[in-house]
Amino acid sequence: MEDLSKLSELLAFPKEIVLLSHRNPDGDAIGSCLALSLYLQGKGHKTSVLFPSEYPLAFEWMPQSEEIIIYDLTPSVAENAIQKAQIIFCLDFNSLDRIDKMGLKVHASTVPKVLIDHHLDPEPFADLVFSNTSYSSTSEIVYHIIKQLEPSKPISRLIADCLYTGIMTDTGSFHHSTSAEVFRLMAELKEGGLDDTHIQELVNNSQPDKYLKLLGHCLHNRMELIPEWNLGIIYLNREDYRNFDIQRGDTEGIINYLMMLKSIKVGILIMNQPSIVKLSMRSKGDFSVQAICREHFNGGGHRNASGGASRLSLEETIKKIKDIFPGYVFANQLN
Ligand code: 5GP
Ligand code: MN
Repeated sequence: MEDLSKLSELLAFPKEIVLLSHRNPDGDAIGSCLALSLYLQGKGHKTSVLFPSEYPLAFEWMPQSEEIIIYDLTPSVAENAIQKAQIIFCLDFNSLDRIDKMGLKVHASTVPKVLIDHHLDPEPFADLVFSNTSYSSTSEIVYHIIKQLEPSKPISRLIADCLYTGIMTDTGSFHHSTSAEVFRLMAELKEGGLDDTHIQELVNNSQPDKYLKLLGHCLHNRMELIPEWNLGIIYLNREDYRNFDIQRGDTEGIINYLMMLKSIKVGILIMNQPSIVKLSMRSKGDFSVQAICREHFNGGGHRNASGGASRLSLEETIKKIKDIFPGYVFANQLN
C-alpha cells in the first residue's frame, strides 16, 4: 500500500474518474467497481463504471448498476468517458487485453492509471499499483484502501453491499481464500447492518428454471471424468447454447459441481460460445491451473481458479487438453 499517499494526493480535488473491469464481469469486478465508485462520489468526484461486456442478471439489483457503461453496447459512450477521464482505475484484472478494445484507449491515455487487483503476474501498465494475491478479492483491497484513506468514517450500507458481494462471490460463499481478516471485515459490515442472507438470495438463489435443466444436461450428457488424472471436464457445444438459450451468467457455478467429487483435483469447463471457445478451470491444493491457462490458453487468474480462451474448435480444444494434461500431472507429482 506504499502508493496510498500518492493516491490520496490524486484524489485531493474533485475529478472525472473512470473505473474499469474485465470482460464477463463477475461479482468481484462489479462489487469492487461500484463500491469504489460510490466512495469517490461521496468525495465529490464524478465517476463512470465501464465493462467490456454485460454483467449477469443476478447483479442487476446492485446500486447504480443501471448506470454502468457496456462497451459492447455503446462503444462511443465508453470511449468518450475514457477520453474525458482525469484518473483511470483498473479493478480486478491484470492485463489490458482483459478489457478488449478499451485496453488500447487506456494504453494510449496519459492520465494517471491506478491498478487494484489480486491476480497473479500483473502487467506493468499502471502508475499506482495496489496488487496483492494474498487478498480474497479486489473488493477486500478496495475496503482497505477506503479505510486507510478515511479511517474513522464508517462504511456506508450501499458500499457494504457491494463489498460483501465481491468478497462473497470470489470466496465461493466463504469456501476458499478466506482469512481472519476477511471474517473481521465481515463482522464490521454486519455490525453496520449488512443483510448478508438477502444478498446471498439475490446472487445465488435467483436462477431461472433453465439453470437446473442446463446443469442436469451438463452432468448427465456433457461430463467426462478421467480418474487416472483426477480430471473432470464439462463441455458445452454450439447446439447446447441454442437449445438452452444460454446467456451471460447462465454457466456460472457449473464447474463447482466437478469439484464436489473427492476423485477430482482439476475441473475444466469448456464453452463453445458464439464467437470464442472459452475455458474455466478450478483446482484443489497446489495444482496450478493458472500455469495451464497462461502457457496454453492465453489466460491466467489464480492458482486454483483461472480462465482462458482457445482458437481451436471445441473438439480440438478437448484433444489439446488431453495431450498437455499428463505433463502437468507429472510435474505436480514431482512437487
Ligand atoms: P472464471 O473461470 O470464473 O471465468 O475465472 C476464474 C478466474 O480467472 C478469475 O479470476 C478471472 O478473472 C480469471 N480469468 C478468466 N478468464 C480469463 C482470461 O481469459 N484471461 C485471464 N488473464 N484471466 C482470466
Ligand atoms: Mn476478483
